[in-house]
Amino acid sequence: MTLADLDVFLDRERFTGSRAHNDSELRDVRQLRVRLRGIWESNEDEAVQLINSILRTARALPQLVKHDDWDYHLHATTPEAPLAERMAVEAAMALVDVVRTGELQRLRVCAGNGCRAVVLDSSRNRSRLYCNTGNCANREHVRAYRERRSQPEA
Ligand SMILES: [Zn+2]
Ligand SMILES: [Zn+2]
Repeated sequence: MTLADLDVFLDRERFTGSRAHNDSELRDVRQLRVRLRGIWESNEDEAVQLINSILRTARALPQLVKHDDWDYHLHATTPEAPLAERMAVEAAMALVDVVRTGELQRLRVCAGNGCRAVVLDSSRNRSRLYCNTGNCANREHVRAYRERRSQPEA
């Protein structure tokens, strides 16, 4: 991931607040990704410890806010907090709901060949297999199509 990738990602997620736009910001976000991956690979009690530690370290304080054209929603950091901290808390707050509703099995690793991206399956029927880059789902569909075509006629 480069700074440009990060810009694209934040833009797509409509992530607001302060930005440093420098290497240390990028490094912190990369480290965060490693930390979050740990949650995907943990059992429930370990995941809870990691989530709580993120919230504690950032001194997260949930507040209802309205900004831009979003209606009231929760922020647990101020817009001035460093980007990686805000991203960490945002992820932790989402994971709080996942744990609380007993749906930790919705945390998956992308089923794409060779892809290790983490997936939070928020689909109603828990059918999501691939990361949100779109690439993996497309590749697998093409591969499945070719496999079907290469099978001898019965
Ligand atoms: Zn917001
Ligand atoms: Zn993928």
